[in-house]
Amino acid sequence: MVQVPISPSARSSQSIDLRSATPDELRDRLDAIATRIIAGERLDKTEALALTEIEGQENILLLCEAADRVRRECCGNTVDLCSIINVKSGGCSENCSFCSQSAYHPGEGSPIYGLKSADEILEQAKAAEAAGARRFCLVSQGRGPKYNSPKSKEFEQVLETVRRIIAETSIKPCCALGEVTAEQAEALAEAGVTRYNHNLEASENFYPEVVSTHTWGDRVETVKNLKSAGIQACTGGIIGMGESWEDRIDLALSLRDLEVESVPLNLLNPREGTPLGHLPKLDPFDALKAIAIFRLLLPEQIIRYAGGREAVMGELQSFGFKAGINAMLVGHYLTTMGQPPERDRAMLAELGLEGGEAPVPQGDRHGRSR
Ligand code: SF4
Repeated sequence: MVQVPISPSARSSQSIDLRSATPDELRDRLDAIATRIIAGERLDKTEALALTEIEGQENILLLCEAADRVRRECCGNTVDLCSIINVKSGGCSENCSFCSQSAYHPGEGSPIYGLKSADEILEQAKAAEAAGARRFCLVSQGRGPKYNSPKSKEFEQVLETVRRIIAETSIKPCCALGEVTAEQAEALAEAGVTRYNHNLEASENFYPEVVSTHTWGDRVETVKNLKSAGIQACTGGIIGMGESWEDRIDLALSLRDLEVESVPLNLLNPREGTPLGHLPKLDPFDALKAIAIFRLLLPEQIIRYAGGREAVMGELQSFGFKAGINAMLVGHYLTTMGQPPERDRAMLAELGLEGGEAPVPQGDRHGRSR
């Protein structure tokens, strides 16, 4: 991605300490930043770090206003709706500290079962379609098909299920199966998978604090394999694992460099039994600040509310849509329950938004490569 250089005068205006600005000054500065982003400029790390210094609920809401303007101008008012199913659960070989499906630290009440049949998955795909979801993601525990034993037929079974979903419903199947080789990415594309979820989860710097059985670089390689096969990358992370604001900015910038199309933002809902189970839930205003900064750094990407929307945001969950969110999971999450789809639809209607498929970043609206 080529970043449009920002003029020295514009840059120096960003070095002003945003913490000491009056509300009117802050609004003006944030409005000027939003205008530049809409015009095609991209913030650098120094500018993004300056935004993290904005404190206090009223000031964070001003930041959200700027992000909301960028979302409206760059993405429109359609909220991308998708649903997920855990096709294989629990007993995972990896040790991700946030996850209750790991065999290293099985979280309380996390079910364990092998790959579901195509019929079972299809039934849920139809239910998701009826609930208004446009995409349906088949999620499996495990490091990924790249490490399947030669005798395993599971990957072929998933491909067959994908073909049946395409033949028998109008919902678009996505997958989140873990690491894939370049050949497996091609096979997924041939079966009809157009989007694949593989999160970076955290910055490169923070990742070893939460996972040691594989590396951040392993995850990046899979994202590149998917993109090379023409599959959209649905690649985001988790906020609230003890990472710094700089880690959050680094994650967003890595996602921008990888040119991912969709960015799921999970807000850690600490699960009992996991190494991160003792952490306090994120403050909802810190979550809003993170969402808004992700939108300002990733103006055209689909930014998706994922796990933790209800548990962390509570009554403030609708504020996320006024802070830059333009997508959400409907129905249940992998190991926790979501709110009923009717309530989601009512919330969007109240906000003047509509559920559907959000536009996918197509590259440059301004003649830049992205
Ligand atoms: S996040 Fe995925 S890879 Fe990590 S422990 Fe959970 S199921 Fe396994």
